[in-house]
Amino acid sequence: MDKHIVRVLRQRVGKDERAAKQHDWYTASILALRDEVIEKWIDSTRRTYDSRGKRVYYLSMEFLIGRLLRDALSNMGMTREFEAALKAHGLDLAALEELEPDAALGNGGLGRLAACFMESLATLDIPAYGYGIRYVNGMFRQRIDDGWQVELPETWLAHGNPWEFERLESTYRIGFGGEVVAEGDGVFWHPAEQVEATAIDTPVVGWRGKRVNTLRLWTASPLDPIKLDAFNAGDHFGALAEQVRADSLVRVLYPADSSPAGQELRLRQEYFFTAASIQDIVRRHVQYLGDIRTLPDQAAIQLNDTHPSVAVAELMRLLVDENGLEFNEAWDICRRTVSYTNHTLLPEALESWPLPLFERLLPRHMQIIYAINSRVLREARKAGCSDAEIAAISLIDENGERRVRMANLAFVGAHSVNGVAALHTELMKKTVFADLHKLYPDRINNKTNGVTPRRWLQQCNPGLTQVIRDAIGDAFLDDAEKLADLNAHAADRQFGERVWAVKRANKVALSDYIKKTMGLRLDPDALFDVQIKRIHEYKRQLLNLIETVALYDQIRSHPERDWVPRVKIFAGKAAPSYHNAKLVIKLANDIARRVNADPSVGGLLKVVFIPNYNVSLGERIFPAADLSEQISTAGMEASGTGNMKFALNGALTVGTLDGANVEIKDHVGDDNIVIFGLTADEVAAKRAGGYNPREVIEGSRELSQALTAIASGVFSPDEPDRYKDLIGGIYDHDWFMCAADFDSYVAAQRSIDARWEDVAGWRAATIRNIANVGWFSSDRTISEYAKDIWKVL
Ligand SMILES: *Cc1c(COP(=O)(O)O)cnc(C)c1O
Repeated sequence: MDKHIVRVLRQRVGKDERAAKQHDWYTASILALRDEVIEKWIDSTRRTYDSRGKRVYYLSMEFLIGRLLRDALSNMGMTREFEAALKAHGLDLAALEELEPDAALGNGGLGRLAACFMESLATLDIPAYGYGIRYVNGMFRQRIDDGWQVELPETWLAHGNPWEFERLESTYRIGFGGEVVAEGDGVFWHPAEQVEATAIDTPVVGWRGKRVNTLRLWTASPLDPIKLDAFNAGDHFGALAEQVRADSLVRVLYPADSSPAGQELRLRQEYFFTAASIQDIVRRHVQYLGDIRTLPDQAAIQLNDTHPSVAVAELMRLLVDENGLEFNEAWDICRRTVSYTNHTLLPEALESWPLPLFERLLPRHMQIIYAINSRVLREARKAGCSDAEIAAISLIDENGERRVRMANLAFVGAHSVNGVAALHTELMKKTVFADLHKLYPDRINNKTNGVTPRRWLQQCNPGLTQVIRDAIGDAFLDDAEKLADLNAHAADRQFGERVWAVKRANKVALSDYIKKTMGLRLDPDALFDVQIKRIHEYKRQLLNLIETVALYDQIRSHPERDWVPRVKIFAGKAAPSYHNAKLVIKLANDIARRVNADPSVGGLLKVVFIPNYNVSLGERIFPAADLSEQISTAGMEASGTGNMKFALNGALTVGTLDGANVEIKDHVGDDNIVIFGLTADEVAAKRAGGYNPREVIEGSRELSQALTAIASGVFSPDEPDRYKDLIGGIYDHDWFMCAADFDSYVAAQRSIDARWEDVAGWRAATIRNIANVGWFSSDRTISEYAKDIWKVL
């Protein structure tokens, strides 16, 4: 390997060993590893073609893949080899890994799920393509200035990307606007504008290098890069307008987490990548297998949320307009090929587009959607649906401004509609899709999310992985559910001490990082209490902050008590237009500034907001956490996957009965998780009427003191009214039930203090968490999709 890396360094990076900088070695290492990966890649592709196996196509607006070097090395089983080779040149592999930019092509959980799924698909040896957009800037980089979030462009491609392969032969024209004309028997769309979509492929290596699949991301270019006559006539900018228009399609990911961006550009992006992907899928099928009618036997198309749901109309267009099928036959093929995953129940996050906009941009698709709609509504009539039910089922929302409902389109165009945790799936049937579910009762099914244990245990926590191997052998590396063998060691004191030593080392490493990047010193023996995720009101970082303030008050009022030293760690990005979320970030920083500088808490409480949460930062934090905060308002978090990463790394969960927390509780047992707060049904009942938050606040001294302190400017003396409205919202309506759940949350936190004092008990609970969350491996999730939905296993 040493020779190979040096040869690559010379011949492809153009440096000799003596002149090479760290970054040259980094590039050479990736290219050398890539050479090994490519052989497996070609081999995997050939096997799929030879066996005529069915392929899975995962369409997602987001792939939050993070760094790839450590992942690919580890899955190829080549980490040791590379470490040794680099060491011979005085280089440290870990340091080179830090040079890789974090590919932040996603907002949060939904995008990270897509990345975990790609890895598990390769691991399970399922032929699969991920399809998305190669954003040049992706998700914004977060900086904290004076406590406020500042959004900066993420320039992850600035120094090139050695993982990518441009596939010029896979280029498609994507149209927008124009008109639809009847010609002979058929109907044809003549778009007014066109851009070209070109594939850029990244290899995805499965565990033990069994299979290498393809992540195919589309980039855009104009048909006509420069209008030379305009340029020569002096209109230099106008001459390049087409280039700019194409660039803008692949420039940024809308950083709106679970609410529609509403912009025309977003719809263009969705159609751009979906149309390119569907064309690619149909082209591959027709080229290698001939008959388009066999598409459902050879291809399974999974829509990750509604962002690619225009795929239904695009596939219908290709089948009917370009391949000459009858509408009915095309509809049957479409439904047997497509399936859809729902990720949110928030009504404001269910995508819909103003009908005039949709019609102007995609006139032929609009016609097809009308045709689908009349068919579906006829079926509904025949099934005896009421007018109200029919209005809810319709693909067109007729209330007020007419809109196209993308979730309904995905639902009717798919043979399977799945939720992402048991509770979420049940709520889907009762709320957003109640009427569609009545009409198509067999369509909704559950596939509880998972995370890949390669990245989220083996790679991010090598110390813990080693301790587990020493105790139960290597079987869990290939089957995470074998972690259950650890249950036999839960009460073993020596094993508990080994697990604990690893946790402490991880906490020291995180503390060093925080000291280095933020200048704040932490006590690694304190309880590390962590809430890292997108900042959103329903995730209730605010509840955690109010409790932090209450605890601060209590420590100062009762210095004689035996307080458990705690570090409250926060991280997460807020959507740039989400006022309250950005204010919560400022509040966390305001509280941190005051508490961390107050000598009267005697170091018993520290608060830290770590900037720029992304996959790489998560890989540092999850292994160092003692307590996992999963405290969303019940009924609002579809699943969560952060909760799974924490438990897998031996943190206890404090959480509500929401999303996958419910199933985590079932797996780890009631004694090894701390549940508090209202249930989803109780939240719904309170919202329906009779809930008076003011009364609740007045009945709780701790809560009213904390709220008064925040609202009156104790933490914001430079602007005393800064949090007046934020806190006022809790008094007025408390939509997210912060007041309603406060007392129960405080009681849960104090019970955790007591548990922490019981050292042996805490360690045993930690081990029981690790032992019993193997089920939350994305390998299990993907094998369920494969058997039940895609029929490929
Ligand atoms: C896992 C993960 C998420 C999802 O976190 P939740 O707590 O489930 O919302 C978001 N962002 C990153 C970077 C992650 O790794």
